[in-house]
Amino acid sequence: MKATLLTVGDELLIGQVVDTNSAWIGQALYDIGIQVARIESLPDRHLEIRAGLERASEHSDLVLMTGGLGPTKDDITKQVLCDFMKCGMVFSDSTYNRIQRLFAKRNIKLTDAHRDQCMMPEKAHLLINQMGTAPGMWFEYEDTIFVSMPGVPHEMKYLMTHEVLPRLTASSTQVLVKRTVRTVGIPESSLAELVEPILDQHQVGIAYLPSRGQVRIRLYKNGLLREQIQNEVDTAVVAVVAAIGEPFYGYDDDTLEYAVGQLLKEKGLQLATAESCTGGYLSHQITSVAGSSSYFKGGVIAYANEVKSEHLGVAPDLIASHGAVSTQVTEAMVEGLLASIPADLGIAISGIAGPGGGTEEKPVGTVCITVGALGDTHSEQILIGKNRLLNIQYAATYALNMLRKFLLEH
Ligand code: ATP
Repeated sequence: MKATLLTVGDELLIGQVVDTNSAWIGQALYDIGIQVARIESLPDRHLEIRAGLERASEHSDLVLMTGGLGPTKDDITKQVLCDFMKCGMVFSDSTYNRIQRLFAKRNIKLTDAHRDQCMMPEKAHLLINQMGTAPGMWFEYEDTIFVSMPGVPHEMKYLMTHEVLPRLTASSTQVLVKRTVRTVGIPESSLAELVEPILDQHQVGIAYLPSRGQVRIRLYKNGLLREQIQNEVDTAVVAVVAAIGEPFYGYDDDTLEYAVGQLLKEKGLQLATAESCTGGYLSHQITSVAGSSSYFKGGVIAYANEVKSEHLGVAPDLIASHGAVSTQVTEAMVEGLLASIPADLGIAISGIAGPGGGTEEKPVGTVCITVGALGDTHSEQILIGKNRLLNIQYAATYALNMLRKFLLEH
């Protein structure tokens, strides 16, 4: 089955709202083995939406639309669907009764606009929307299924999850099996060199998804026999993980901070952090994992040099002679950290996130990181890039990976 996604709304075209609906629907359809062939965003104009429907129906068996179902004048999706499918509108008593009950609870008066909202295309099968007033609509017209849903993301997700996906799953015979292998600290091109020769022996599809120092490798296969396809994908995953070696850290939804947390738990070790340029971002990532209290003690955000000296005991002379962004200083930060917080391991980060503050010797993006225990530390100086937020995120990823490798080696 081939799908087209149509999102309707001027706000999408002027960049006021990001089209997250398509990303969510694309992922949900992919998970049940339906291929999205095309995504199109359309303005709130009758002829444009109609033309979008015509294009979509030529190329797909399934057209999913969001937006334009509200009570305001710019919400014209239903009128366009009626025009496209050559049908009229009928008043939906069930929708009116639902809106009435909902508004009575909230003490809101029904207006003519709400009554108009209950006029539905006569060819629509209505899908109950427990999250809002506009129901979803399911049409089977000529040889294509059309589904229209509200633009509000949580309403669309409700309808997809409870009404649309179960119907689509029931009518689909194809299954898709996919597995994601997560890696860190290795570029996509080097991964491809390790993985491609192995894949010649396995009939599975592959996609590389790089992001901020990490690459996810997705292995997948479509077919009719779930068990057989599952075995093929599982066998390929085992071979790929063996070929990748140390940069592999987890599967599917595992995060790097989760993988590091698991290692700390296994080894029964407690961690503390001392962050300068990342301003607490690393600690936030570590503590975003449920159960992190069993291995994370706490941290010091030592952004200013005085805080590095007063709270972490870093000698002002050391900062003056090597600079706040130096491995000498991050080593001293770990030492001072572990003297004040009773943890087994510490991470210290100091860097120039930018856009200002760089020098010729240490340009924007220079970051120094130390990980380790008292008397047994490992330090690195890296150069990332010019974008402040990316520098912060990448530095935290790099630090987590240094800690992961430290734990694997010790
Ligand atoms: P409503 O009943 O709210 O009028 P609707 O079906 O008419 O629902 P829209 O008016 O098109 O939907 O959009 C409502 C809100 O949903 C928008 O303000 C926007 O924030 C959000 N939205 C719409 N389309 C998308 C999209 N494709 N991705 C993410 N958010 C969206």
